[in-house]
Amino acid sequence: MAVLGAGLAGLAAATQLEADGMDVTVFEARERVGGRLWSETIEAGRKEPCVIERGAEFVLSGYTSMRRLLDVTGLDLVDTGMSYYVRALADTPDITTDDVVGAGREAAAIAKTFTSPPSAEEVLQRLDLEPRLVDALRARIEISTAVAASDVSAETLENIASFEPRPSWRVSGGNQELPKALAARLTGTIRFGEFVQAVEATDEGYIVRASTGSSRYDSVVVALPLALIRGASAVTMPLPEWKVTVLNRVLQGDAAKLHIPLREVPETSAVMSTKDRFWTWTAMDATGSVTPVLNSFMGSPAALDNTRAAVSHDAWAAQARLIRPDLAFGDLDSAVSTIWRNDPLARGSYAAYSPATNREDIERLEQPVGNIYFAGEYADPDFTGLMEGAIRSGERAANRIRDAVLASTP
Ligand code: FAD
Repeated sequence: MAVLGAGLAGLAAATQLEADGMDVTVFEARERVGGRLWSETIEAGRKEPCVIERGAEFVLSGYTSMRRLLDVTGLDLVDTGMSYYVRALADTPDITTDDVVGAGREAAAIAKTFTSPPSAEEVLQRLDLEPRLVDALRARIEISTAVAASDVSAETLENIASFEPRPSWRVSGGNQELPKALAARLTGTIRFGEFVQAVEATDEGYIVRASTGSSRYDSVVVALPLALIRGASAVTMPLPEWKVTVLNRVLQGDAAKLHIPLREVPETSAVMSTKDRFWTWTAMDATGSVTPVLNSFMGSPAALDNTRAAVSHDAWAAQARLIRPDLAFGDLDSAVSTIWRNDPLARGSYAAYSPATNREDIERLEQPVGNIYFAGEYADPDFTGLMEGAIRSGERAANRIRDAVLASTP
């Protein structure tokens, strides 16, 4: 079996395939595992280096598959001491987080009254609330889903853009510890630095054409980001029209992150800029104290198009300083920004669904084409765009292969 991509989806698939007794080779274009999980350290106002997440950060409610893999690999979760879901409003401090949570609940209830699935924006239009509060909700939805409120399904109010004040966690030592641990447990090979250019169907199986040559496999799990499997510059694969159609219906989000060292250890916090579509937070780590780093996340294509922050982290840091006068900013030369649309192996942040995408479409995203199987965050109905969705999708791809092998064994 070949697995293309050593992100969470690919590694979850490879782990499951090996557990089912299959020989697996993983192709990974980078020199590291984890894909959009990318943990690094920076120096800030304390002795120990501070772990930052350049990609996925929060382990949220309902991550049962991720928690199972963490148990298996002996990794722990650390409570961040703050809630990903609840953010104070920098532009309108008179509107409280309780106001926002209440409005978010009202929006989620209104979404259920539509006869056909609405966009988040259609729901916002029905809210009989102060315009500044509605705009804050709009910003919150666009930041979290990383797409426009007018494009995304209102179902997001139940998931990634929920307003319920639930806790949030990170993997102790950094989220990338999980893909590293999964990779270390594989007995098959991970071929690093192997950019896959094409998958071709032949009478004797599938040829995977990569940077250093071609090899043949019985089945292939394509666990690549959405942008690498659709569009003109995608990896070449024999995809039928129905597959191209469903892939093209998925929305591609756009997001960036910035990490600024602080001179002093702050309190935990979460503060959002409605106007500039980014939020900032300080959180606890495995040391049991708050990390002296200001983390920031900007989401939606319009936000990244309209701001100099997308090209200059100094510009973004200046915006962050305006909304966080409470913090002692450290050396900006040590700040780290990550613009995921500029990463050629991701070409965006994560996926979201429009109101037009139905369950059947979503099932078709994973439906195999011959013995080519598909997995990734973009294909999970319940945890779309998230680490948990990537893992579930990878495991489903492996289970489909096991079922197909069993069905063909006399
Ligand atoms: P990826 O991790 O992208 O893995 C795909 C792999 O394929 C990569 O390693 C890539 O290098 C490789 N690849 C690409 N092209 C090729 C090729 N041609 N040949 C070979 N290899 C190739 N999720 C959460 O749950 N919580 C969060 O707080 C959160 N925050 C996020 C913040 C940001 C800024 C971003 C970008 C994502 C965030 N996510 C979050 C989403 C999460 O990171 C993803 O859902 C998940 O990591 C995707 O896993 P994947 O395996 O589907 O894709």
